[in-house]
Amino acid sequence: MKKTKLLNYAPRLILIILLFISVIFLMNTVQNLLNSDVKINLTEIVTQNKDVITSKLNMEVNDLDSTATQIANILSTGNTIDNDSIYKAFLASIANNEDNNMFVAGTDGTAYFRDGNTLDISGRQYYKLAMQNLHNISDRLVSRHDGEEIFVISVALKCNGEIIGTVQKFFTPEEMYDICSISLFSEEGYMYIINKEGYILVSSRQETYSQENENYLRMIYAQGNENESIQLQNDIQNQQSGFMETTVDGKKIFSAYTPIEDIHDWYLISSVSTEAVSPNANIVIKMFYLILSVVVIIFGLSLFFFLSYKNKQKSHLEQIAFVDSVTQGNTFTKFTVDLKDALREHIDKQLYLLKFDIDNFKYVNNFYGFDVGDRMLFQINKTIESKLLPGERIARISGDHFVILLEDVSEQRLENLLDFPENEEEITIYITAGIYAITDRNESINLMVDKASTAAQTAKGSLDKKVIYYSENFDQQMIRNEQMKRSIKQAFSNHEMIPFFQPKVDILTGRLVGAEALARWLKDGNLIPPFEFIPLCEKTGLIMELDMAIFEQTLHFIKKHLDQGIHCVPISVNFSRLHLVDSHFLEKIVDKIHEYGIPANLIEVELTESAIFDNYEVISRFIDQLHTEGFLISMDDFGSGYSSLNMLKDISIDTLKIDKDFLNKTTNSERQRIIFSAVAQMANQLKINVVVEGVETLENVSLMKEVGCFVAQGYYYSKPVDESTFDKMYREGFLC
Ligand code: C2E
Ligand code: CA
Ligand code: CA
Repeated sequence: MKKTKLLNYAPRLILIILLFISVIFLMNTVQNLLNSDVKINLTEIVTQNKDVITSKLNMEVNDLDSTATQIANILSTGNTIDNDSIYKAFLASIANNEDNNMFVAGTDGTAYFRDGNTLDISGRQYYKLAMQNLHNISDRLVSRHDGEEIFVISVALKCNGEIIGTVQKFFTPEEMYDICSISLFSEEGYMYIINKEGYILVSSRQETYSQENENYLRMIYAQGNENESIQLQNDIQNQQSGFMETTVDGKKIFSAYTPIEDIHDWYLISSVSTEAVSPNANIVIKMFYLILSVVVIIFGLSLFFFLSYKNKQKSHLEQIAFVDSVTQGNTFTKFTVDLKDALREHIDKQLYLLKFDIDNFKYVNNFYGFDVGDRMLFQINKTIESKLLPGERIARISGDHFVILLEDVSEQRLENLLDFPENEEEITIYITAGIYAITDRNESINLMVDKASTAAQTAKGSLDKKVIYYSENFDQQMIRNEQMKRSIKQAFSNHEMIPFFQPKVDILTGRLVGAEALARWLKDGNLIPPFEFIPLCEKTGLIMELDMAIFEQTLHFIKKHLDQGIHCVPISVNFSRLHLVDSHFLEKIVDKIHEYGIPANLIEVELTESAIFDNYEVISRFIDQLHTEGFLISMDDFGSGYSSLNMLKDISIDTLKIDKDFLNKTTNSERQRIIFSAVAQMANQLKINVVVEGVETLENVSLMKEVGCFVAQGYYYSKPVDESTFDKMYREGFLC
C-alpha cells in the first residue's frame, strides 16, 4: 500500500525537484553573469584608478624632483656643499611657493624645514630609500615634529650625478586621501591603499578608519574570509593583480586589487558591495526568489489540499464500500478482501464459510417495521462479531443474509455462535445455516459463498437441522429442487393441486363436526403427499399460492353444498406462517369469502402453534381481526413446540388441535392422561374446543373420553379422502 502511494507521488516529487534545480540553475547563471560583469568592470576601474593615483603621486614626485633640481642648480654655483648650503638653496628654491610641508635633508639625515626647524630623519625608511635614488612614499608615520600622522614622499637630491641628500614633503592623511580619492561607485564603493604587510594607508572610509582595522588582511581574515586573505597576501608578494569576493559586516563585497607601480609596495584595492553593483538585478533576483517561494508555497499547499482531499475521498469511499450502513460491520466487499488475505496468509489452516439468513425476518419487517428489522440485523452482527476468534470475520451480504469466515466449527462453538439473546421486542430469531469447508482455494469467493448458501437452503428444507454442511450432492439436489419448483408451478396452472378432506368426528355421537382440507398433488394420476412438496413450497414462497388454491377449492366445495341447502359444518384450511408476512393476507381471504358468498364461520383458519407463539403479540392482533371478520381460528399442532399451557388464556382461539405426535410418540400413558386432562380442563374453562389429531386406535378414543376430549381427527375414523368420498359424509353428517 505504502509502496504504491510513493509511486503515485514520485512523478510529482520529481517535477518539484526538477523545478527547483532549473530555477536554482537559472539563478546561478544570472548571478554568474552579473558577477563576471562586475569582475570585468571592477578590474577595469581599479586599473584606471591605479593610473590616476599613480599619475597624481608622480606629479607630487615630479614637484619634488623639480625642487631637487633647482636646489642642485643653486648648489652647483657655490663651492661647498654642506647642510647649511643645502638648506639655503632649498629656501631659495621654494621662495616662490607657499608650501610649508616640504623639507630637505643632507647626507647625515638632518632634515631642515622652511621655518628653520630641524629633525634627524636618518633612521626613516623613506630617507634611506631616497638616498639610494629610490623615490618613494612612506607608510603612515607619526610625525616626531607634532605627533600627527603623516605620509612622506621622498626623492633623492643629486648634484653632478652624486646624491647629496633628499627632498621630501609630508602629507596629512586627509591630503593623501584627496590625492588618492577617485570617484568610485557612488557611496557604495570603497577604496583602500595598503602596503605589503596589509596595513591600510589610505582609505575612502577615512572616517571609520580605526586602529583595530588598520590591517586589511587581518580585517577580512577576521570576518571569515580566510582563503581570500591568504590569496591576497600571496598576490601582493608576487606583485599580482586579482579579484576576490569577501563578506564584510554581513555584506557581500567584490574587490579588485592591483599593485601601484612606481610606488614602493603600495596596493590599491577597490571594493563594492554586490547590492551596489546592480541594485536592479538584485531586486529582480529577490523578486524571482519571492515569486518562486510563492509558487512553491501555492504548489505545495495545493498538493497538500489535493492529497488530503483525495485521502478523505478515499476513506469516504472505503467507508461506503467497507462499512455496512445497517450493521456498521463489514460489507461483503470488505469480507471478500479479508477472505482473500486469509486464504493467502493461512495456507495450512482449514477455513470455513458459514452462510445464514433469518427465517422469520420478512415477518419481523412487516409487523414491527423496518427499524426493528434493522436493529435486529445490527444486533445479530454485533453478537456474532463479539464471539469471533481473531482471524474470523462476519459480513452482511444483503437483506438478512450473512456470511461468516470461521476457523473453529465444533458443534459446541456453532451452538454458542448462533445462539442469540432475545431482543427488546422478544422476537425469537430462527436461522438456518449452511457451512462450506473451503477445499479449493482457487475457486471464486462467490462460488464458495454459493456452496455455503446451497447448504443453508438444504437446512431450510430439513425439519430438525439448523446447520448443514455442504456436500457435492447438494448441487444435484438443487437442480432437482429447481425442476420440482418448475413442475409445482406448472401444477397450479394444470389444477393438479387438490384438497383431500379429513373429517373431525364427535367420538360420543359419531357425527361429523368438521373437516380439514389437506393438499394433495395429483400428478399423472398419482397422488403425491404434502411432505414431498410442501417443504419446497415453504422454501420458495409457493406455499402462499398453494394455500390459496386449497382455500378456494374448499370455498367452492362449501358453496356447492350451501347452494343445495345442506347443513354445512366448518372446514379448516391450513395457512402457512409465511402469510403472516403479507399485509394483504386478511384482505385477500375476506375478498374470497365475499366472492363465494360464504359465511366466514364455515372456515376455520389453521395456524401452527409455533407461528402463533413466536410472534405472539402480532398474531394476537391478527387473530382479533380474523374474529372480527367472523372466521374461526384453530391452533394446529399444539404440544409439538414449547408453548406453555398458561399462554392459552391470553390468546383468543376457538380450537386447539393436539398434535398427532403426542398420541403416537408418547408411550407413557399416565403422562398422556395427565397432560390431556390438564389441556382439556383448561380449554374447557376458556371455552376452547379441543380436537385430538392422530387418533388411530380404540385406546386413543378411550383415553379421550377419560380426559374429556370429544372431537377426534385420525385414521381410526378416516384418512383424508378425496372430494367425492367426502362429499357423501358432508351431506350425511356421518362417516359412511
Ligand atoms: P397437519 O396440518 O397437522 O395435518 C394433519 C396431518 O396428519 C395430515 O397429513 C393427515 O393425513 C395426518 N393424519 C391424520 N390422521 C392421522 C393419524 O391417525 N395418524 C397419522 N399418522 N397421521 C394422521 P398430511 O395430509 O400428509 O399433511 C401433512 C402436513 O402438511 C399437514 O399437517 C400440514 O402441516 C401440511 N399441509 C397439508 N396440506 C396443506 C395445505 O393446504 N397448506 C399448508 N400450509 N399446509 C398443508
Ligand atoms: Ca392442520
Ligand atoms: Ca396438525
